[in-house]
Amino acid sequence: MINVILNIADFEYDIYGIVKAFFSKEDIESYYTKDVDIQGKNVASTDHTEDKADPNALYTLYVNLDKAQNILKFRFVEKETNREISTEFEIYPDNRKKTKDTLKQNLYQLMVKVCGKELPWGTLTGIRPTKIPMKLLMEGKSEKEVYDDMKSKYLTSDEKINLSIEVAQQEIEILKKIDYKNGFSLYIGIPFCPSTCLYCSFTSYPLSRWSKEVDRYLDALEKEIDFTAEACKDKVLNAVYFGGGTPTTLLPYQLDRLIKKVKSTFDMSNCVEFTVEAGRPDSITREKLEVLRDNGITRISINPQTMKQETLDLIGRHHTVEQTIESFKLARELGFEDINMDLIVGLPGETIDDVRHTMEVLKELQPDNVTVHSLAIKRAARLTVFKDHYEKMKMINTGEHMRMCEKYCREMGLKPYYLYRQKGMAGNMENVGYAKNGKSGVYNILIMEEKQTIMALGAGASTKLVLDEFNSDGNRKIARVENVKDIKNYLERVDEMIERKRSKMEEVKWH
Ligand code: SF4
Repeated sequence: MINVILNIADFEYDIYGIVKAFFSKEDIESYYTKDVDIQGKNVASTDHTEDKADPNALYTLYVNLDKAQNILKFRFVEKETNREISTEFEIYPDNRKKTKDTLKQNLYQLMVKVCGKELPWGTLTGIRPTKIPMKLLMEGKSEKEVYDDMKSKYLTSDEKINLSIEVAQQEIEILKKIDYKNGFSLYIGIPFCPSTCLYCSFTSYPLSRWSKEVDRYLDALEKEIDFTAEACKDKVLNAVYFGGGTPTTLLPYQLDRLIKKVKSTFDMSNCVEFTVEAGRPDSITREKLEVLRDNGITRISINPQTMKQETLDLIGRHHTVEQTIESFKLARELGFEDINMDLIVGLPGETIDDVRHTMEVLKELQPDNVTVHSLAIKRAARLTVFKDHYEKMKMINTGEHMRMCEKYCREMGLKPYYLYRQKGMAGNMENVGYAKNGKSGVYNILIMEEKQTIMALGAGASTKLVLDEFNSDGNRKIARVENVKDIKNYLERVDEMIERKRSKMEEVKWH
């Protein structure tokens, strides 16, 4: 446990992000001195006054603003040794962005002293680090200027700066080919899976429990599809993505019905990509792949996660390594020319040799896309629930693992084209999508870079409306509209979900 005790109610989230990046396994709790106001409410009326802080916490970080002098002080105290490290610096009351950057830089440097290590991404704790180089490059800045900006402002390592610049350049090239500014994309969530993986934090329910409701689920989706086509009739549809869950848990006639509904409801003439995540090899059959192929699906995913059987058994993926390989070969045989394979680095008990073995098998298969994920332990995942049990098995992901995967991908002729980070990622790393030339997943770029509105349908789906307004960092603001996660609720309340979308789309200026 780490206590953070503040005499200000601002920047708490940024402070938390930096401390958590260094101490990923510790819980961090914020407390306030008595005079602090949190959203107009005096802190004394909450249970977060400093006297409630955990007396046994390993560390306490004190954050004190001297309002008269505009000086902010961080003091980090280690309980066991009483060791104290502190720093203080000037803030800029009229410039929030500058204050925030300065605060993060100073806290980062302090934490480097405390922990004796740097972080590859420096002060960047957000999900989309490539937004920074992308924006600067699109403004006409040179790669050198982007490098200098990321180095001085965010203290990012050379390796990650170079990776993000390469990714941003790729994304810019790909986006040039589509009219994304006048377009939108469509996400359809199928929340069923053959079984629930240990690390899963997505909206996913076992198919065995819900198979009788799948047709009703498609009825509800069709209502949402009709609404979306009407609401977005002035926009062009650029990309469609069926995700989940596992879309290929649908039976062949159900897959056929859903794809045909999309194709007959929207104008598909500007749609450059139609992806169906086949995901779990234990959901794939020849008949389903034929349905996808005959309906002109351009891109599919067949996800091994690992090619080590013992790990697959441990993480609750009820399929074999052979099934993955056979499904991939079958898809190739049926003519699929754009196949993605996802893998996860940092799975329980896996060594670097296990990851190397997975990459060796991928090298033989030669997929068109490989997405390398760093294991993220989210609160909802069973891995968190069974943390104690699985903590005995090491979950390791270092720069060495990621570099090895990158080397394999490059040898296979794949280049990094999209990148994102998640909270709770093993080794403070990132997820990177690699692709052959001309095979990059356009939808992945559109959703990650928040370049256009994504209409999301289905249980647990989250629509992202890109707004006309800008944030202080120069990026467009996003308005989210969430669908309920629970399937029963979704089926009963689909009209309300449509109404939620309609009223938000009327309330904000989106484009
Ligand atoms: S296949 Fe994906 S969505 Fe389904 S349970 Fe596993 S991690 Fe969750």
